[in-house]
Amino acid sequence: MPYDPQPQASHFVNGAYVEDTAGTPFDVIYPATDEVIATLHEATSAIIEQAISSAKAAQKAWGAMSGTERGRILRRAADIIRERNHDLSVLETKDTGKPYSETFYVDATSGADALEYFGGLAGSLTGEHIQLGDDWVYTRREPLGLCVGIGAWNYPTQIACWKGAPALACGNAMVFKPSETTPLSALKVAEILHEAGLPAGLYNVIQGAGTVGAALVSDARVDKVSLTGSVPTGRKVYAAAAADIKHVTMELGGKSPLIIFDDADLENAVGGAILANFYSSGQVCSNGTRVFVQKGIKEAFLKRLAERLETAVIGDPLDEATNFGPMVSRRQMEIVQGYIAKGQEEGARLVTGGERLDGDGFYLQPTVFADVSDDMTIAREEIFGPVMAVLDFETEEEVVARANETEFGLSAGVFTRDLSRGHRVIGQMEAGSCFINSYNDAPVEAPFGGSKLSGVGRENSKAAIEHYSQLKSVYVRMGNVEAPF
Ligand code: NDP
Repeated sequence: MPYDPQPQASHFVNGAYVEDTAGTPFDVIYPATDEVIATLHEATSAIIEQAISSAKAAQKAWGAMSGTERGRILRRAADIIRERNHDLSVLETKDTGKPYSETFYVDATSGADALEYFGGLAGSLTGEHIQLGDDWVYTRREPLGLCVGIGAWNYPTQIACWKGAPALACGNAMVFKPSETTPLSALKVAEILHEAGLPAGLYNVIQGAGTVGAALVSDARVDKVSLTGSVPTGRKVYAAAAADIKHVTMELGGKSPLIIFDDADLENAVGGAILANFYSSGQVCSNGTRVFVQKGIKEAFLKRLAERLETAVIGDPLDEATNFGPMVSRRQMEIVQGYIAKGQEEGARLVTGGERLDGDGFYLQPTVFADVSDDMTIAREEIFGPVMAVLDFETEEEVVARANETEFGLSAGVFTRDLSRGHRVIGQMEAGSCFINSYNDAPVEAPFGGSKLSGVGRENSKAAIEHYSQLKSVYVRMGNVEAPF
């Protein structure tokens, strides 16, 4: 049968596509044109039950396999993803509106990186031996059991793999619920994993809005929940998981600072600020949306930024020349428009952008506000769109204090030619994922995650293993037992 680039049904459960038309139908919209590209059905309680019970049944044998055998399947899936990168990237572009010039390089490929990395690591997961005189303790690194993954809409393939790869490498099963806004790509991830040899039931994808996510999180058979989403959803999911003391990973929102000192290389600083605000039309959790620019470089920075933004190619996301696409949905576009209006009302200076483009797509111009003060709404709340707030500063001490003056703590960046200052400033940032003379790099080898309200736990790197496995320690007595009576 020829390979079909489209998902075959709403859900992927127990190794196969399944449909249950009793579930409420919902449309998938192509954000560039507002056209319906697919209609899926939310998971019914029957589908939720099938997903959980098949995952539960499959996990024991999977957890008992050697890590090397598990890893081989994950690495095979990574190879298939790379072979099909074009088709998967087109699907991701249709699902999210992100330009193909991004999805081809970042989305499926970073999912493949995660499968390859954790596939490689799987065979090396071990416990340790602790000698205590003649007695000794050994530890076993064991799976948690059944993990639930819940995804946001900005990086659907990547999130499906960033959660699935370490979970499976450690011997767990996963039930994954993508965002209802972007439900398609995770189905292809499930299909490819099973094509690569993953036994049925170990990676199930079911659709639905928050209610389906909530049903999964509150099921007592679930051992761990990993959410990528907003802080309000994180609070709800964390609280629901607490009822059964489930393990959690929370990758939540941010309002991260990017600090540009006078001595920074101007072109690099402008490039960093562009990557920190306009990639994926600004729909990136780690974005550096509070851009603190030291007074001496401010006007040169704003001038060069405006010039470079003029060269953005905004248009058909499937055209390879396009490098700036629409917002993911009408709703998200309207939220961002509300923030742009608020910025103007509160007295920020609009340097460039601010308008919706004509047509049916959900396009907003890349937007820059200058003369932003710390108390303005656009400097405090996560916008999740292409809106940069530029704030002035004078001294290092001042900017460190102001940069940390936020409830979030996902990321922080600094541009300076003074490397001692770069390390000193980053050392004081209350944030999990930081950058010096760069922004938004997220290689699978590096831990990713936030502090403060931005989350708990880390994805990627060896650190993720700690969040998808648990240690059993076994004391072995070699001599007689001495009891008091
Ligand atoms: P939401 O928090 O709205 O949703 C995240 C996911 O949770 C969706 O799948 C959603 O379902 C589901 N959900 C909603 N309510 C519940 C509930 N009560 N129980 C269980 N699941 C629920 O986030 P968005 O999808 O709008 O994504 C944007 C947010 O994600 C931003 O705040 C952003 O910062 C954050 N994010 C964080 C990242 C990180 O790694 N730190 C990376 C990317 C994004 P549905 O949407 O289908 O209703």
